[in-house]
Amino acid sequence: MAQDILINWSPQETRVAVVEQGAVQDVYVERTLERGLVGNVYLGKVSRVLPGMQSAFIDIGLDRAAFLHVADLMPNINARHAGKDKDKPVASASASAGAALPGADAALPIERQIFEGQALMVQVLKDPIGTKGARLTAQISIAGRLLVFLPQDNHIGVSQKIPFAQREALRARLLALTAEGGGGFILRTNAEDASDEELAEDIAYLRKTWAHIKNGAMRLPPASLLHQDLTLLQRVLRDLVGAQTQTIRVDSREQFAQLEAFAREYMPSTQERLQLYTGERPIFDLHQIDDDIARALSRRVELKSGGYLVIDQTEALTTVDVNTGGYVGARNFDDTVFRTNLEAAQAIARQLRLRNLGGIVIVDFIDMVREDHREAVLSEFRKQIGRDRVKTMVGGFSQLGLVEMTRKRTRESLAQMLTETCPTCEGKGRVKTPRSVCYDILREILREARAFNPREFRVVASSQVIELFLDEESAHLAGLSDFIGKPISLQAEGSMTQAQYDIVLL
Ligand SMILES: [Zn+2]
Repeated sequence: MAQDILINWSPQETRVAVVEQGAVQDVYVERTLERGLVGNVYLGKVSRVLPGMQSAFIDIGLDRAAFLHVADLMPNINARHAGKDKDKPVASASASAGAALPGADAALPIERQIFEGQALMVQVLKDPIGTKGARLTAQISIAGRLLVFLPQDNHIGVSQKIPFAQREALRARLLALTAEGGGGFILRTNAEDASDEELAEDIAYLRKTWAHIKNGAMRLPPASLLHQDLTLLQRVLRDLVGAQTQTIRVDSREQFAQLEAFAREYMPSTQERLQLYTGERPIFDLHQIDDDIARALSRRVELKSGGYLVIDQTEALTTVDVNTGGYVGARNFDDTVFRTNLEAAQAIARQLRLRNLGGIVIVDFIDMVREDHREAVLSEFRKQIGRDRVKTMVGGFSQLGLVEMTRKRTRESLAQMLTETCPTCEGKGRVKTPRSVCYDILREILREARAFNPREFRVVASSQVIELFLDEESAHLAGLSDFIGKPISLQAEGSMTQAQYDIVLL
């Protein structure tokens, strides 16, 4: 299906929307401050070698010196690949090449490998936190779309998450494609179904990137940045643009120019589809994208037929409940349910993509009596889910009438990215009523009065709770005060939420 990609750029945030037939299908957000340094390659300068800790401090141009342990130093290829794990497939595709040496005794002590003042190419493994400097490795790995390139290595690995039966064939194809030029490659899980052409494209991109890095290391002074993982803008060209993409529109002149230069060098096929958006209206207003983002963060999604979805995301799974709207006449009941479920099948597929929900999803369609209706809904659901660029699997109706499916977890979900758990209800979505809080307080005072003997009790709580004590609940409060033989005073605290309170013993 034809699609357009809209990019809304601002210094603090980049937002990307993939639009098909006027409807947003995918949203990506990257915040400049949250990008971090992991994956960055620097030409560092050894500022101190610490033989006692078998580590070194490296100046990479940040406020604080970064930290490099001997295990993350340049691999001695012979030492690294000697021993029993010689032909073991590489364990994980996404991990950078920071694997420790197989045996510490295989490595020379750090003071015999590097010296103060030496220039050294390094990559950030962990961002600096607080007073701790960044953690580095000298084993460079560059992530492509389908492959990870280990330029200083010579292994060909396949992610273990790919089924065993396919691994050997993929490895053989990769070996043939990378025969010339050297270096190690790891095939990522998402490359399972990649064509030779796609793999070759990624290999060329990675080799070119490495050539740039090496070139920079020769030209630039120590403590220079040599390479950064691609920004969201660049990843759009590398990962999202396909044959179905008609236009890629960017609303920033400066970013457009940079993206065009990037396209010319690395993704020439995308260049002619790049456009600068200069319209009056904000680019995300064109297809009401901001409204769709807001809807993708809410629990309830309205359907055109009058029904609605309720989507709940927990850590373990996501549930989607399909509901008819209001009263449905008995005469056309079956048809209304059928139509609502069909519309829901489409809406659910879209919401899963927009929200980027991963893991197990359980859909509770409205019960259908007719078998042909059930089959039609399931087949529509499968068709809609099948358009997802993320890997999915859909089961049939269970005995309880639920449809179970899985969607591969990729990046964070939209909600994880843009929202946090509500501190008032701690994610439950509900808080105790002021009256429930009043009764909690009365019980608590009774308990305390048995254990302690203060002069007076003071209740500090939200104004809603205090007002109830002053009005409707005043008799209960007075009764308790008489019973324990102690005065109870009240104090409203504006900063407290409805569920919060404190009982002070005076
Ligand atoms: Zn809440």
